[in-house]
Amino acid sequence: MTMKSLWNDKEAAKFKGDLGQRVYTSRLLGRDKSLVLHGGGNTSVKIRERNILGKEEDILYVKGSGWDLETIEPAGFSPVRLLHLLHLAKLKALSDPQMVNELKTHMTCASAPAPSIETILHAILSYKYVDHTHADAVVTVTNTANGEQRIRDIYGESVVIIPYVMPGFELAQVCARQFAREAKRSTVGMVLMNHGIFSFGTTARESYERMIALVSRAEKYLARKSSWKIATRAAAISKTPLRTELASLRWEISKVAGFPAILSTCTNSQTMAFAQRKDVAKISQQGPATPDHVIRTKRLPMLGRNVETYTKRYREYFHQYVRATKEKKTMLDPAPRVILDAELGLCTVGQTAKDAAVAAEIYLHTIEIILRATALGGYRALPAKELFDVEYWDLEQAKLKKSGKPPVFTGEIALVTGAASGIGKACVDSLLARGAAVIGLDLNPAIEQMHKRSDFLGVRCDVTSETAVAIALDCSVKAFGGLDMLILNAGIFPASRRIEVLHGDEWRKVMNINLDANLLMLRECHPLLKLSPKGGRVVIIGSKNVPAPGPGAAAYSASKAALNQLARVAALEWGADRIRINIIHPNAVFDTAIWSEAVLASRAAQYGLSVQQYKKNNVLRTEVTSCDVAELAAEMCGPLFAKTTAAQVPVDGGNERVI
Ligand code: ZN
Repeated sequence: MTMKSLWNDKEAAKFKGDLGQRVYTSRLLGRDKSLVLHGGGNTSVKIRERNILGKEEDILYVKGSGWDLETIEPAGFSPVRLLHLLHLAKLKALSDPQMVNELKTHMTCASAPAPSIETILHAILSYKYVDHTHADAVVTVTNTANGEQRIRDIYGESVVIIPYVMPGFELAQVCARQFAREAKRSTVGMVLMNHGIFSFGTTARESYERMIALVSRAEKYLARKSSWKIATRAAAISKTPLRTELASLRWEISKVAGFPAILSTCTNSQTMAFAQRKDVAKISQQGPATPDHVIRTKRLPMLGRNVETYTKRYREYFHQYVRATKEKKTMLDPAPRVILDAELGLCTVGQTAKDAAVAAEIYLHTIEIILRATALGGYRALPAKELFDVEYWDLEQAKLKKSGKPPVFTGEIALVTGAASGIGKACVDSLLARGAAVIGLDLNPAIEQMHKRSDFLGVRCDVTSETAVAIALDCSVKAFGGLDMLILNAGIFPASRRIEVLHGDEWRKVMNINLDANLLMLRECHPLLKLSPKGGRVVIIGSKNVPAPGPGAAAYSASKAALNQLARVAALEWGADRIRINIIHPNAVFDTAIWSEAVLASRAAQYGLSVQQYKKNNVLRTEVTSCDVAELAAEMCGPLFAKTTAAQVPVDGGNERVI
């Protein structure tokens, strides 16, 4: 039940030297998400080195910002001169910007990452190895009414207990004073109330295994108090599709936030049971579990049952937030990040899909912490004022300022049909590269594994089936919150057949996939595209065969011509909904699934050309690739085409019959 040391002698031997050992056990900590979640936690080692003048110097290697413990490398540790840090610790005061400056200017490597904000705290603990985590079990116990007494009961003299102080210079000083006063021979760690735990040792293994042992004691305590395994009632999950409701909520959130946002929904039995608790408003409104989580999981607006109530409350919440922020004269990423609702479950908001996923993961841990602490005798987090201070302290602001201008489709959602290969696959890549979250639909099950990243969702889907399309759209909206861009690419190109032998079944099959399925997609996506914060965009992958049909391709040419007309009518009908539809007519794109060797040879023969001649048979004598088409499709969704609808643009190297 409780955590175990993951130390392995064979594995450890591969990590050479003191810093190598530091890397190894840092990764062991990082592997356990109940210890370290998304940068929450840091480690250090003190190493004596000879500098360029030949003098010996003690260097503190401390986790640098931007690195995760689970995947950290030696280069992820910032080398800072220890003596200077110890001098700093004796100053009367040091502002956050001053501290950042001192840490950066006293490193021995100019290209190292910025040292952790908890660097001075690592320096004042005079042990070779220091490990720090925000372990769920320890945070759970400290965030209760009698937290401090409970910690004393669990650990006795093994740890020094530090009251809550905001991370930074002051916390380091409080720790230094209190540690000097209270540490005993048997002391192996330090608990920071409402924050986390430190362990230390003379070897990497000792410090790491002390961390595991200390956290296990908190876990066992929770188990003894029947506060470890919390029974969750099987929760009712709404049967009615909430596609439009979620998209409306996202639209409102994006409007108040001032930028398109991703809204991810999680409806597992844990989140549903939590959101349906009678006391959810009370227990969830007390702020996130530790100060480090504040940036990502803002306080919760408790919402009602329908979108109007959601958005009204959201707006109220937002205005309060703005007022409070104005007093501080700063304005960062204003939308609250977590929404709990009895029907929707847990929704998290982010500027990117990754942000929303991180918020969800953190909140899932927070739910566990709240439930266990509630069972233990009442969850008690920090007062709101403390949390607010943390959000706006200088260090966090500096971190946010660094992040530059986001890609053009940040916070936007695109769906591509026929996405597992050829033009569709290339469209997925072009959209991801521009910052969009992308849903790829395809008959081929390989679509589900095409990308392993939080901003891509691959759904196996037959776009000619109304049920399959409904399920796929439900999944899409649950994952990202709506739809801004639709690329209709799925289609087939049957082998050449002259009209006198063209069978009705084949004709109908081509029409069904190339035409009817696209009507279905357009119709079902319309309510979502209408709720796109920047206005919906549709790109139709047409064909050169629309202006210049080919002999032997009657069904294909007719289906694409009908699709072209459908798109033009959609442009007329949907302009008032701020949805624009543009069409690309590619020709001779041979790196796609429909161009098998056989099809290629047969088409070349129709024109009396060799395959090689046929490939570059255009005015510019150039080969057109899937990537060329995809890049144009992505640009058509961007600002260049903001005032264009119903355009038909060829990507064909120039075709004499079209020109
Ligand atoms: Zn910390």
